[in-house]
Amino acid sequence: MMLSSPKRRLITRLISRVAVTVFITLLMRLNAYALTAEVQPDEVIPGDVFLLKAQVSKNPAAAGNLPDAEFSGRKIDFFPDGNNYFIALIPVDIETKPERYTITIKSGGEEKNVHIKVKPYKFLTKKITLPEEKVILGPEDLKRAGKEAELLKNILSQTTSPGWDGRFKAPVDTKVSETFGVKRIMNGKKTSVHGGLDYKGQTGAPVKAVNAGTVVLRDEFFFGGNTLVIDHGMGLFSVYMHLSEFKVATDEKIAKGQVIGLVGMTGRATGPHLHFGFNLLGVRVNPASLFKLKL
Ligand SMILES: [Zn+2]
Repeated sequence: MMLSSPKRRLITRLISRVAVTVFITLLMRLNAYALTAEVQPDEVIPGDVFLLKAQVSKNPAAAGNLPDAEFSGRKIDFFPDGNNYFIALIPVDIETKPERYTITIKSGGEEKNVHIKVKPYKFLTKKITLPEEKVILGPEDLKRAGKEAELLKNILSQTTSPGWDGRFKAPVDTKVSETFGVKRIMNGKKTSVHGGLDYKGQTGAPVKAVNAGTVVLRDEFFFGGNTLVIDHGMGLFSVYMHLSEFKVATDEKIAKGQVIGLVGMTGRATGPHLHFGFNLLGVRVNPASLFKLKL
């Protein structure tokens, strides 16, 4: 049977309207169920930190469950950030091979890929010549320094829930005198890689907490002198060394910008300065990259 032209038009219109409705509904469903993920920034250098943020779908198989992902052979630790969002701060160890990495985030049967480019970077090498007696440590000093390194390692291996408050801010306003990653060659022998930033400073100048957290170490160390460590959660710690004085106590909750101590030259320091470092999940990371993150 042939339909009359107006009837045919009506049916065509109906069919197209149904098709559009079905299409929009599908799109909305897809949107509600889709796993999304992003990295910040998408280019780093070895020693940096990047942020991975994922929103899992409302699908019961995914909702509320930690997503699963790996970077450079290491499982990523995600933390809930409300509304099916999860965040992770990821350390790029200074030994990481520069290349473009793909991170596959898995959640409730879904997968999403993000990319992070690790660019090559040539860190400075610094040659230092000192009298041998200043370089070689006696057995007592060696034993003490070893014990302190072990204590610090244990503290830095804890992971608590996020405790920071927005972006990280530099602990002092002075200039950096030595950057992160500088290779030190002492009397012709490669000795260490600088694991933090050295800030210029006068003895007695205030040192501020780079963010909110809890004091987990306040002690006098052989190398670091008066050393303070603040736990910011998610395995991230800030470390302050060579202080002349402490202004806070162990276990004290600290606000961002609070004065925690004074610049000094305690421990092995050739002059007053602040050695400042970040440790993320047991990895020493470049403070400059954390200060840039929009948290
Ligand atoms: Zn230093």
